[in-house]
Amino acid sequence: MGKKIIVAGLGHGGIAAAAQISQAGFDVTVYEKKKEGTLGYDWTDIFAPDALGIAGMSMPPEDKYEYKEDMTFFGPTSQKSLRQHVPEEHLEIKMERRDIYEHFINHALECGVKIVYECAVEGPIVLGNRVVGIKTEQGDIYGDLVIDACGLNSPVRRNLPDSFGIEKDAARNEKISIYRAFFNVASDEEVDAKFKVMLFKGGELGINWIASEDDHTDLLMGRFEGFGMEEVEKFTQLLRKENPRLGEEVIRGGQFVEIPVRQPLSIMVADGYAAIGDSAFMTVPIIGSGIANSLKASKILAQTIIKDKNRSFSAESLWGYQTGFYKALGSGLAPLACVKLLLLSLNAAEVDDLFEKEILTEDMMTIGGDFTGISNIKIDPKAMVNQAKQVLSDTELLKKIIACGVRMGKVSAACTMMPKKWNARRVQSWARVYEYAFR
Ligand SMILES: Cc1cc2nc3c(=O)[nH]c(=O)nc-3n(C[C@H](O)[C@H](O)[C@H](O)COP(=O)(O)OP(=O)(O)OC[C@H]3O[C@@H](n4cnc5c(N)ncnc54)[C@H](O)[C@@H]3O)c2cc1C
Repeated sequence: MGKKIIVAGLGHGGIAAAAQISQAGFDVTVYEKKKEGTLGYDWTDIFAPDALGIAGMSMPPEDKYEYKEDMTFFGPTSQKSLRQHVPEEHLEIKMERRDIYEHFINHALECGVKIVYECAVEGPIVLGNRVVGIKTEQGDIYGDLVIDACGLNSPVRRNLPDSFGIEKDAARNEKISIYRAFFNVASDEEVDAKFKVMLFKGGELGINWIASEDDHTDLLMGRFEGFGMEEVEKFTQLLRKENPRLGEEVIRGGQFVEIPVRQPLSIMVADGYAAIGDSAFMTVPIIGSGIANSLKASKILAQTIIKDKNRSFSAESLWGYQTGFYKALGSGLAPLACVKLLLLSLNAAEVDDLFEKEILTEDMMTIGGDFTGISNIKIDPKAMVNQAKQVLSDTELLKKIIACGVRMGKVSAACTMMPKKWNARRVQSWARVYEYAFR
């Protein structure tokens, strides 16, 4: 077959796509900046295991994962909480990030994928209108297609020519800054909920979780502005008042990172180029989960590549990946970016009202419970607006919820208007309309 595919960065979707296309006979090499055996973070992640089968992977060995506890959501001060009730057959699994990587990498190696570690990608090589390779610290590498799996700050996506019409960066309110650490257990006192998700806790614009495990307490702090250790100290002191199990010693993790929480990239392909995973902003915009979506996208990308009989890997031939992705996932993810924008526009008292007045419900928070839509969250704008109209008088909150419902409608309409066939001018003008719907 002879066609050479480059995967820039060992992102989850990238390595999963690499395995599938290598199995189909392509020559696939992944270039990763980190050292072999050092990928991922020192903590666990949660994802829907059905995505593994979709990407052609087996389940990991049973001792490598456990099923995730349902989450309980709390407002800033509201006494009312919302507990998920994910059916057993749809429970997500929790796995060490390094074990997830090991599972994916072993599978890809078995499928014939080559991996070059300690090779930082610096940007794309573009000839005319086409991506023809990557610049790396080890020199220029040419290929027939570059799959960009370098994550949120991909130097490939960021250095594409403006004429491609592909967004380069996520704006400040389109990514969330995270601090995550496992703390020691300081007391054996029981907690009211084992896995608590707290919105706007302490009045801060952000999402946090605290999960009480037998041998540690898992703390995640997410803010829409950058923050430092001083803020972490203040927040953990506040949490210790309610949760004496949360110790003072960080036993694992303790890093600051960023996750995209925005609508998927409006244009994911160009001649010789396709973005996947965090590079293409495929996370669920209100919670930042991206592993399952990346895996599911990998199948759509691999099938598009394999179906390209001329092996042109042109934007035209790769466009089926973008339309397939939006049909299966993107059109469910994009409206959720509007819910994130709604949350960003609220004050703490209004967030409490979402709980108290049952505008958010346990059904809506049952992430992972709805496997008919792939985004796994069931926020139905009509139901939310109707409930808000019934329980709120003419308040600012009601206006904000109605505006969110209208915006979700516009975004969904924009998704359905995506050109079926590639035409650079029409696609770029559609992308402007789509992006405008979030303003
Ligand atoms: C704290 C935290 C918790 C999360 N929890 C969950 C969770 O529980 N469940 C879930 O589904 N998702 C979770 N996510 C999101 C999830 O990590 C991503 O959405 C998912 O991994 C897809 O991202 P990716 O693999 O495309 O990109 P990344 O994970 O960013 O991987 C990119 C890869 O490219 C490499 N790379 C980057 N730049 C270069 C370069 N210049 N040259 C070469 N290589 C490069 C990186 O080293 C890395 O290996 C979490 C993220 C964070 C930060």
